[in-house]
Amino acid sequence: AKYVYDFTEGNRNLKDLLGGKGANLAEMTNLGLPVPPGFTITTDACRHYLAEGDQPDGLEQEVAGHLDALEAAMGRKLGQADDPLLVSVRSGAKFSMPGMMETVLNIGLNDESVHGLAKQAGGNDRFAWDSYRRLIQMFGKTVLGIDGDLFEEALDRLKGRRLDTDLSAGELQRLVETFKAIVRDQTGTDFPADPREQMRLAILAVFDSWNAPRAILYRRQERIPADLGTAVNVVAMVFGNVGNDSGTGVAFTRDPGSGHQGIYGDYLQNAQGEDVVAGIRNTIPLEELENIDRRSYDELLQIMETLENHYKDLCDIEFTIERGKLWMLQTRVGKRTAAAAFRIATQLVDQGLITLDEAVTRVTGDQLAQLMFPRFDAAAEKKKIAKGMNASPGAAVGKAVFSSARAVELAERGEDVILVRRETNPDDLAGMIAAKGILTSRGGKTSHAAVVARGMGKTCVCGAEELEVATGERRFTAPGGVVVSEGEVISIDGTSGEVYLGEVPVVASEVVEYFEGAEPDGELVKAVDRIMRHADEVRRLGIRANADTPEDAARARRFGARGIGLCRTEHMFLGERRQLVEDLVLATTDEERRQALDALEPLQKSDFAAIFRAMDGNPVTIRLIDPPLHEFLPDIVELSVRVATEEATDKDRKLLAAVKRLHEQNPMLGLRGVRLGLVIPGLFDMQVRAIAEAAKEVRGARPEIMIPLVATVQELEAVREESARILAEVGVEALIGTMIEVPRAALTAGQIAEAAEFFSFGTNDLTQMAWGFSRDDVEAAFFSQYLDLGIFGVSPFESLDRDGVGRLVAIAVREGRAARPDLHIGICGEHGGDPDSVHFCHEVGMDYVSCSPFRIPVARLEAGRAAL
Ligand code: PEP
Ligand code: MG
Repeated sequence: AKYVYDFTEGNRNLKDLLGGKGANLAEMTNLGLPVPPGFTITTDACRHYLAEGDQPDGLEQEVAGHLDALEAAMGRKLGQADDPLLVSVRSGAKFSMPGMMETVLNIGLNDESVHGLAKQAGGNDRFAWDSYRRLIQMFGKTVLGIDGDLFEEALDRLKGRRLDTDLSAGELQRLVETFKAIVRDQTGTDFPADPREQMRLAILAVFDSWNAPRAILYRRQERIPADLGTAVNVVAMVFGNVGNDSGTGVAFTRDPGSGHQGIYGDYLQNAQGEDVVAGIRNTIPLEELENIDRRSYDELLQIMETLENHYKDLCDIEFTIERGKLWMLQTRVGKRTAAAAFRIATQLVDQGLITLDEAVTRVTGDQLAQLMFPRFDAAAEKKKIAKGMNASPGAAVGKAVFSSARAVELAERGEDVILVRRETNPDDLAGMIAAKGILTSRGGKTSHAAVVARGMGKTCVCGAEELEVATGERRFTAPGGVVVSEGEVISIDGTSGEVYLGEVPVVASEVVEYFEGAEPDGELVKAVDRIMRHADEVRRLGIRANADTPEDAARARRFGARGIGLCRTEHMFLGERRQLVEDLVLATTDEERRQALDALEPLQKSDFAAIFRAMDGNPVTIRLIDPPLHEFLPDIVELSVRVATEEATDKDRKLLAAVKRLHEQNPMLGLRGVRLGLVIPGLFDMQVRAIAEAAKEVRGARPEIMIPLVATVQELEAVREESARILAEVGVEALIGTMIEVPRAALTAGQIAEAAEFFSFGTNDLTQMAWGFSRDDVEAAFFSQYLDLGIFGVSPFESLDRDGVGRLVAIAVREGRAARPDLHIGICGEHGGDPDSVHFCHEVGMDYVSCSPFRIPVARLEAGRAAL
C-alpha cells in the first residue's frame, strides 16, 4: 500500500485519501502556485493506526523516504544545526473541522538549530527564539498533553502589558528555558531534541486528535462520519514572523456574506498563522497590504483570480509572506451564508464559469429554507448579550420565562414568551410548545431542546454558555453583569445563535413574499427566481401539497404545488361537528346512525368543494378518516368527573360508557384507518358520497380517494367496491388508491396494487411501525440520547431511513409497478419535504412528493437537484 503522497502526486479529487487540505495543496502545487514543498500521509494510514493502535508496516520508511526527498529539494536537512529545514505537521480531514484537530509548527528546532535559524534569517535572533518557544509550547500542549495555560501564563508573566512583538531575543531565550522546565516538570522527561523524533511524535498526535472529545462532538453536530480519519500534511516551514516584511493572512475570493466579488480578508504583520486565530493582536484589512508590500499584494490578487476560475467557486485561502515572498498554505471552496450561496451561483453563471444546471446543484434546500424564515431587521439597533448555537432557525421575541408552567401561563394570557432553561427535558414540552422560542445555556445541536425545537419548527438557540441561568431565582446573567429577570423582553436569532436584550424588530422574508407572488426584486430574490425556474424545468418529480383547508391549498398552489397529495379529513370532524360525531358513536339503531351521517354529509361536501375550487383543476387526493373515533370524544377523566356530579345528563352517562368502550391501550395500532371504515357502517360511504357530490358540482375537479392504514388487499377491496359503486351512482370518476404505511402493505404491494390505482407512502406511520417507535413520544423522550450515542445521525422521522424504511418503500414500488405498470406513486409523510428524502423518492422512481405548503419550494429545488 502507498501511504504517502508528495504534493506533486495528488489532486483535489483525492479528498477521501488526502483530506481537504492535502488534496487542495496538491491541486495548487500542480497549478504552479507558490506552495511550500511537502507531502501528505493518507487517511488510510490514520484509520489503520486508530484501529490497530499502531502505524501500518512500512509507513515510517515511506515517511523517511519523502523527508529525504524534501531535504534534497530544499538543500537542507531537518533540524540541521547550521542551516535547518523546519516543517509543520498539520491535520486535514475530508471535511473541514476548523480548529478541532491538531497542528504543530516549527518542527526541527533545538538548542543547536535555533542558532542556524537565526543565521538563515540574517542574524535575527529574536525571530529564532520566538519560533523555538512556539514549538515547545505547541508540542508540549498537543503532543505531550500538557495544560496549555501553563505556557500561556508564563508568557503573560514575561510580557506584562507589552505586546508579544516587544519581547527581546534574550527574553525569549529565557522563556524557552522556562518552557523546557515546564515540560520536564509535567512529563518527567526532557523536550525531545531529535528533529525526526519530534516529527514522528507530532504525526501520531495528529492521528490521535481525530478522537479528541471536541472533534467527536463537532463531527456529531455536523453529521460527519466518525470513521473517516484525518490525513497529515508535512510541509516545509515558511515564516511570517521574521520581521515587518513578513506576515500571515486569510482571504476570500468574494464576500462569504453577500457573495460580492472584492478583496475580503485580514492580514497580520510579523506573525504566524495561529496568531490570527488567537486574536492576540488586531489584524488589518487585506486592502492595506497594498501599501505594505505591493508586489505580494498584486500576486495574491492574481492567485485569487486563478483559484476562482479554476475551482469555479468562492475559495478561501491562507497565505504567508516571508520576507517579501508570498506562499500559499491552504485553499478550499469556502463556506458561505444561504443568501450568498444563491447570489454566487447565479453570478458564476453570468461570468460564464458554470451552467444553470451546475448553479442548481450549488445551492441546497436547507439554504432555501433558511431564507424563508423571518429574520431580525439588520438595520435595527441591537444589544447583543450572548451567542450560542443556532439550533433551530428563525427570529423570536418575547418575555423571558424560566419554567414550563410559567411559559404556559403567560402564553395563555396572550403574551409572547421565550423559555430560558439551562437545558430542557421532556417535562418542559408544554412550555416549549407555548413559547415563541427556546434558549438554553447547555447542550449542543443534538440536545433535547434542539431536537424538539427543530421538530416543532420553533426558533431555538442552545448552548449559550456565557449565560448563567438561575432557574430558581427566575433570572439569567449575561457577560458584563447584564441581568435578565422573568418578564424582561429578549430576542433570539436561531439562524445565527445570537441573543439580544429587548425587542428587535422582525422583518418578513422577501423570499417568502416572492413565493407568495411578489415580482422578483432585488439581487437575492432574482437569484432565487432563476434557480427555482431552472429546478422546475429539470425535475422529474411532481410536487403536491399536504393541505386540508382551502387557504392552505391556495398557498400551496402559489408556492408551486400542482395538486394535493394528502387532504386529511379529520379536522373536518372537530369543533361544532364533534356533536355529530358523538351522535354517530352513540347511535344504537341503523336509523340513528343514518341520521348522524346524513347530518355530516353536506358539511363534508362543502369542505371538499372549497378545496377543489382552490386547486383549480389540479388533482386532490382525499384521505378517508384515519384517527380512532375516541379522539373526537370528550376526555375520559373530565367526563368521569362530570358524570359524578349532580348536573350530569343522560347523554353524559351514555357518552362515558362509549368512551370506555372505545378506549384503547394502544390506539395508534387500534381501530383506525380502513378498519374504521369496515367496522362502522356507512362512515366511509358518507365521505365518498360527499366527495362525489362535490366533484360533480365543481367543474374540472379531479378527486382521488385514498384509503389509510391498509395492511392487506382484502381490506382495500371491500372499501373499493363500495366506493366505486357510489361514484358510479353519482356519475363521477375518481381514482381509488391506498396509503402504504403498514409494513405488511409494503411487503404485499404486488397484491395490493391489483386493487389500487395509486400508492402514497405514509412514511410517518411506516417509520413508526418499521422501527417500533411511537411517533408521538420518542423524539421528545429519548432521541437526543440516541443522537448523542450515535445510534443514528438524524431522526428517522425527519429524514427517511434509507436502509430500513427505504427498503420497504423500494420493494413496494417495484412490486406494485410489476403488478400494475401505470400505478401512480407518491409520498405524503413528512419526509416529502426533507431534502435527502426527496432525493431518495427520485431515485426509487416515485412520480411525486407531497409536503406541507411551506416546504414546497424546498421540495421543488431538491427534486431539481436530484434530477441533475
Ligand atoms: C403518514 O403516516 O405518513 C401519513 C401521512 O399519515 P398521518 O401522518 O396522518 O398518519
Ligand atoms: Mg398515517
